Amino acid sequence: MPSSGTCLRGVGVSAGVVIGKAILVGRRPPQVQEQVLPEGQIEAEVARFQEALRLSREQIAVLRTRVQEAVGQENAAIFDSHLMLVDDPGVVRQVEAQIRDRRRNAEHVFHAVIGNYCAMLGKVDDSYIRDRLTDIQDVAARVIRNLQGHAPVDLSHLQSAGIVVADDLSPSDTAGIDREHVRAFVTAIGSRTSHTAIMARAMGIPAVVGLSESLAEVNEGDLLVVDGTHGDVVVNPSPEQLVQYERRIREQQEWFARVEAESELPAETLDGFHVRLAANVELAEEVERLRRRHGVGIGLFRTEFLFIKRDGLCDEKDHFETYRKVAEDIFPNSVIFRTLDIGGDKFLSHLRMPVELNPFLGMRAIRFCLRRLDIFRVQLRAILRASAFGKVRLMFPMISTLEELQQALAVLSEVKEELAAEGIQHNSDLDVGMMIEVPSAALVADRLAPHVDFFSVGTNDLVQYSLAVDRSNPDISYLYQPSHPSIIRMLQHITQAAYAHGKWVGVCGEMASEPLLVPLLLGLGIHELSMSPVSIPAVKQLIRHVRMHEAETLVEEALKCGTADEVLGLCREFISQVPADLLAAPDR
Ligand code: PEP
Ligand code: MG
Repeated sequence: MPSSGTCLRGVGVSAGVVIGKAILVGRRPPQVQEQVLPEGQIEAEVARFQEALRLSREQIAVLRTRVQEAVGQENAAIFDSHLMLVDDPGVVRQVEAQIRDRRRNAEHVFHAVIGNYCAMLGKVDDSYIRDRLTDIQDVAARVIRNLQGHAPVDLSHLQSAGIVVADDLSPSDTAGIDREHVRAFVTAIGSRTSHTAIMARAMGIPAVVGLSESLAEVNEGDLLVVDGTHGDVVVNPSPEQLVQYERRIREQQEWFARVEAESELPAETLDGFHVRLAANVELAEEVERLRRRHGVGIGLFRTEFLFIKRDGLCDEKDHFETYRKVAEDIFPNSVIFRTLDIGGDKFLSHLRMPVELNPFLGMRAIRFCLRRLDIFRVQLRAILRASAFGKVRLMFPMISTLEELQQALAVLSEVKEELAAEGIQHNSDLDVGMMIEVPSAALVADRLAPHVDFFSVGTNDLVQYSLAVDRSNPDISYLYQPSHPSIIRMLQHITQAAYAHGKWVGVCGEMASEPLLVPLLLGLGIHELSMSPVSIPAVKQLIRHVRMHEAETLVEEALKCGTADEVLGLCREFISQVPADLLAAPDR
């Protein structure tokens, strides 16, 4: 158990400081059902068990490397014993034999075998053996969760308000969240662009991720201070620490009140250039609050959460009603609905996604939709129908070739014709755009531009695919460099291609909300910056202190650089001219 006031270090992904009690989720032993297997399914069940072991091995190895790098070889050794347990030939053989002989499901058999093993060890009065018992239960829970497909986390019915502490949270865990009761997220796994992070920012909930094994030290009911700005989690703070953090919470509230009071002011540079600010939204329920507080449109509505929230697929009526409500609530501003971007790190168990070695390079987003036209058409019909009720735009994610764009546009045309033939109201002239988040699309932007009304650059993926760096892997996050010259060059190519064809360009990746990098985006001539609503006031303040011609000079200089660090250096120098309190706000 950590001593009082221990500070755990992770990655702060959603700003703000909160204090609350720890609620541990997803670590309870998973529930196991007994199932009798038909004869023909037995070998598949053995294979499923082996796959769960393989996955567990892989996860443990990742944890091991991370802990070794963070706190050294000695502390990581525990995972060697975890790995040995997963590979224990006695247990594995027994489970496989029992699946075959007793014709029961793998979870049930594995649970029983481990239960017997633990009961045996429990009789031995030796503290070393007892410690080993905890390890065995830990590993067993991991294997069972992997057999069941995911960690069963239920955040929709919390008994009391507190701070959710979990190994990881999947998009479906966070989609059903009870927001009244969740003050912050703290997870062992994750990065700034993982979906836990994006959801936390969308909901304005402070979050710290990537705490690795240090989180195992937190107990249910511990008092925690979560500092989502700096990535700190203080366990059972001392009275002095509490006073200090309570003061920061007050300063934070005052800062937000001050910048929000200025939210009516235009997002305009000192020399009069207007930049459109917009919000990234995942949930229809956010829209009302967004309009009231920030008065901006939606530059990216991620529709996957509408799919993820349900247990099965939504029908056209469900989609239509959600999109219509969003279009009406955000009016007179506009909304860009992005068609389904499933795959990568976003999965739907009920869609039976293929198991892939490289999901981020696989059947994701538009590729999935063009394969599953039944699902795609339903969504397109619903978005088109909603376009009769507000200012609706639509865009396709992850386009990597011109053919892909043309295929998507052809399906859209067919759906429009279908609606027209049925006499169903819709705006057949709605603006249609595409995301640029794959380098191949960035480099042929001049060929793509004639076919769309706008581009929206998804820098989260563009950086991932350009630098070949998994956006959710903390081990290589040092390579995740939005300021890399390759990205700046691609952005320049995209904007020039768009302007040559009279089209506009937005950025809807996290880069748009990074104060240090915003002047670069302004200088490149980006028309719209779309970000988590919580970032809008600060970005607006920043824009109001920048001169466009100076931002353009910054870009010229950045284009001469060879490394991300050099570009960052220029950006730091540029931003040092801006009044410090804008950037050094208490909790941004
Ligand atoms: C992006 O890739 O920058 C983006 C906005 O899309 P997502 O984060 O949903 O992949
Ligand atoms: Mg993306």
